[in-house]
Amino acid sequence: YVPRPSQPLDAPFQIGCQDPKTDAARENATIIMLTRNKDLDGAAASIQSLENHFNRWFHYPVIFLNDKPWSNKFITTLTEIVSGEVKFEVILAEMWDYPKWMNKEDAKERVAAQGANGIYKGGLESYHHMCRFYSGKFYDVEGLKSYKWYWRVEPNVQFSCAVTYDPFVEMAKHGKKYGYTIALWEVGNTVPSLFRLISDYKKEKHLKTTDLWKSMIKASWAPIPFRVFLSLLPSRDASGDAWNLCHYWSNFEIADMDFFRSREYRELFDFLDGKGGFYFERASEINSWGDASIHSLAAALFLPPHQLHHFQDFGYFHEPWRVCPANARGGQLPNSKFLAVSDGKWMEERDGGIGCRCECEAGRNFQSVCFNKLRQATNPR
Ligand code: GDP
Ligand code: MN
Repeated sequence: YVPRPSQPLDAPFQIGCQDPKTDAARENATIIMLTRNKDLDGAAASIQSLENHFNRWFHYPVIFLNDKPWSNKFITTLTEIVSGEVKFEVILAEMWDYPKWMNKEDAKERVAAQGANGIYKGGLESYHHMCRFYSGKFYDVEGLKSYKWYWRVEPNVQFSCAVTYDPFVEMAKHGKKYGYTIALWEVGNTVPSLFRLISDYKKEKHLKTTDLWKSMIKASWAPIPFRVFLSLLPSRDASGDAWNLCHYWSNFEIADMDFFRSREYRELFDFLDGKGGFYFERASEINSWGDASIHSLAAALFLPPHQLHHFQDFGYFHEPWRVCPANARGGQLPNSKFLAVSDGKWMEERDGGIGCRCECEAGRNFQSVCFNKLRQATNPR
């Protein structure tokens, strides 16, 4: 798929509502949620919200992932809610662990020390494993191997507009590889060495500079002649430590696992895993890399902008941020069986709106400079 120059690179897949094409062919796709038994209520609420707004028409499978065995209560409750096939997977211990090369006893002690030093989530071994798992392992989970597409969902999120089309089918049709709803700044002290490492990696592998990569470089306020001078200095990678920290918020993702399963991505992950940064940044006791940064910088390295998709027609909430489009006019369909979302109280319809029966306050958006930058890269005007 190659976009024509006359087309916008990344238009919404749908404006307003349609009659869901329930008889159309599905993509090879699954909804995934990594969660714990104790998050039963939050998991149920998220899946119920996704069912109400999307899956009630499309019945995609839902695969739950856990590093521990599932409780019967979790299984029976979620089986009730999911309208498609449902599976409860337990992640292999080796996928939820320190990298093999690391001395485990030593690593455990240092992780505990992060906690003792009051570093946010730094002392939670499982949080580090989770970040590493979502960066480099999830796409190899046995139960996911046969799927190409996934929609990542977390406990306690809300979807607030109806999704009356099949986003997997549209992603495939438009040659997309990675879809997001919110872009924002990474917390700087979790990643002080990450961009430098990836930037050096990029150089070493002679990867070309994509437009997305450019959009993640911090604007330089140095006067132009001085910038030219800096770039001429031999040992300096002008973009080395210059990440603007913009990244896609990965608690929502609709993406192609074949991107992550590619040799290029695996090599990048192995390189980063070898640095130990999912546990210890720069060998110091501060917080460490999250999967959102890894996914985003990998997309910036390897993907042309037209393979990214911004789901601007989605209403989405993950504490503390939310996005909500205005409803398109004509959102109400004549066929009442497709009307209800949850309580049916959708907000007003507007000229220029693109949402479908959104229940959220139109325009109540978390908008960041990052959002504008990254969006600009995939949708230049
Ligand atoms: P945050 O958004 O960065 O604060 O991270 P979350 O706490 O939301 O965790 C991200 C995802 O990983 C969510 O889907 C969680 O349910 C899941 N998760 C986090 N820690 C664990 C864990 O120890 N075990 C399991 N099974 N899932 C976890
Ligand atoms: Mn989260």
